Amino acid sequence: MIPAREALERLREGNLRFAANVRGSDAFVSHTRRAELASGQQPFAIILGCSDSRVPAEIVFDQGLGDLFVIRVAGNIVAPSQVGSVEFSAARYFTRLVVVLGHSQCGAILATSHNLRAIVDRVRPSVEALLQTELRHDSDALVREAVRANIRASVDHLRHGSQVLEELIQRDGLLVVGAEYSLESGVVEFFEP
Ligand SMILES: [Zn+2]
Repeated sequence: MIPAREALERLREGNLRFAANVRGSDAFVSHTRRAELASGQQPFAIILGCSDSRVPAEIVFDQGLGDLFVIRVAGNIVAPSQVGSVEFSAARYFTRLVVVLGHSQCGAILATSHNLRAIVDRVRPSVEALLQTELRHDSDALVREAVRANIRASVDHLRHGSQVLEELIQRDGLLVVGAEYSLESGVVEFFEP
C-alpha cells in the first residue's frame, strides 16, 4: 500500500514530466507488465476527472498500466455511482489518494443544454453562489472561479457524502484533494500541499 503523500508526490513528478514534454520510462514500458497485471492490480491513486478529451489522467500524470484507478464524467461531478467507484478502489485495493481533477475552460461548467441536465444540476450550486458576487460582470473570471468551486464541491461531497470514505479518512489515512489542470500549460495545480 502506497501512502497518500507518496502517491501525491508521484503524481506531481509525473505531471512535471508531462508539462515538460518528457515521458518516464516506467509509463512507456508499462505494457510489458500486462501479463503480470492480469492477476491483480494495486493502483496508487484514484482520479475522478472530467471526460474532456484533452484531460486523460494517465497521460497528464505520465502513468502506465495498473497505476491509476480512473473515473471520468463530464464536469467531474460526484453522483452515487462515482462515490461507489471511489469506495470500491479505496476499500478493495487500499488506494489511499483520491484526486478530483477539474480543468480550465471546462465545457460542463459552461453548458446549459437540456440534455446535460443531470450534469448541470450538480454544477449549478457552485456557479449560482458566484453569480451573487461581483464576478458576474467578468465572464472569464466567473468561469475560472466556477471551475474551482465545482472541484471543491466534489471534494467536499467525497469527504462527507460516504460513511465508508469518512471512516477511511479518519482511520486509514485516505486523502481526498482537489486539483486543476491547465489546458494551456499542461500543469496540474493541487489545491493543498
Ligand atoms: Zn471538463
